[in-house]
Formats: sequence, structure tokens, C-alpha cells
Amino acid sequence: MDDISERIAETRGRMEEAARQAGRDPGEVELMVVSKTFPPEVIEEAVAARQRLFGESRVQEAVTKIPRLPSSLRWHFIGHLQSNKVRKILPLIEAIHSVDSVELALDIERIADELGLHPEVYLQVNVASDGRKFGFRREGLLHSIDQLLTLKRVQVVGLMTIPPLSPKPEESRPHFAALRRLRDEIHERTGTFLPGLSMGMSGDFPYAIAEGATIVRVGSAIFGAR
Ligand SMILES: *Cc1c(COP(=O)(O)O)cnc(C)c1O
Repeated sequence: MDDISERIAETRGRMEEAARQAGRDPGEVELMVVSKTFPPEVIEEAVAARQRLFGESRVQEAVTKIPRLPSSLRWHFIGHLQSNKVRKILPLIEAIHSVDSVELALDIERIADELGLHPEVYLQVNVASDGRKFGFRREGLLHSIDQLLTLKRVQVVGLMTIPPLSPKPEESRPHFAALRRLRDEIHERTGTFLPGLSMGMSGDFPYAIAEGATIVRVGSAIFGAR
């Protein structure tokens, strides 16, 4: 086995172990391999290891790379998205994890309607209220959630967070727990249960799975340092 397929197998093993320890079904947690900055030839090695779901964070990079890879792959967009790039990226992806404002959600709704698409969306939440990060604050999201849930094209499937960078991965855990509690609070207030929790990266995904992650976004643990 080459390095990339070995690292994918190792990551999947760690994901299963974290799920079992949390008393969860390992089948509930999906691995998204974050391929940003890596060229198609490198991504092909992950495809050879039967990986199908990939994440990209820059529109220009995604629109040049995705058409060069097999059409059987699934792509999620995870980077900050400007409204003027929505039209370019939407036809190439099945989900956006980084919807961080009502305005962006409305732009996606309008363009998805024009293109006849039904994109899945995760609402990005800045649970730590970190001034340097994109994302809804808890209060702002609770204020806007009813409006977001009325959209017809945009399918809100869950919440996403990026905790503050820390050398200690266990410090991410309270942020993951806060995202899960916010999801539960939205359920209580609106009656809508958002199933998806997009949380956990190379350094901290076992803690995210312990707190209920349904999709982890793992890059450097598989492809190496960027
Ligand atoms: C780059 C990136 C990741 C992957 O980070 P790694 O630490 O390399 O696993 C996950 N989520 C987002 C939003 C990213 O931009």
C-alpha cells in the first residue's frame, strides 16, 4: 500500500474507534478528504483507495481541478464563499459547509433556482465568538433560523464549526459540544432537527466524533503538510 491509502485506512480506523468508544454506530460518521492545494494526480491516489468524498476551499482552484477528476466523485465546498462566486461553484458541488450569513444563503437560493439545483448547506457557526473567524454567532443564528429554514432550494442539513486553533486538540471538544447543543436548541425552538454536524479536522476529529460529528474534514493527516 502507498502512503495515502495507508493514511486513509488509518484515519478510517481511528474514526471507527472513536465512534465505538462514544457508543455510536461508525456508519453514522462520514470522512471528507480535504484536497485543497493538492493536484489531481495526488487526489487520484485517494480515489484508488476508494475515497469518493472530497472537500475544496477555494473556488478558482476547485473549478479547475474538479473537471479533471472522475465524475463519480462527490465534492463539498468548505471555504469562505463570496456571493459573486456562487454561480461558478454551485454546479460542481453537492454541499456547502461554509454558509455564514443570511445574505449568502439568499444568493445561493436565487442562483440555485436559476440553475435548477438543490444544494445541501451547513450553517457555519462561530461558537467561540472568535473575532477573527467567519460564521454566525449563536444569537444571530437563532434569530435568523426560521428564515433560513423556509428556503426552497437551499436545504439546510446541519451546522459546521472550526474551533480556535490550539496546540491541544482536547481544547476543541467544548466547541464541538457547543455546536451540538445549538443544534438541539434549534430543534426545540423550531421543531426542525438538523441531522448534520460538520466538525473535526486532522488534529481533533476523535473529539468531534465523541461529541456527535456526522462528517469530519480531514486533510493533512492524509495528504501531509500543505
Ligand atoms: C483545510 C481545512 C480542513 C482540513 O484541515 P487539516 O488540519 O489539514 O485536516 C478542514 N476544514 C476546513 C474548513 C479547512 O479549510
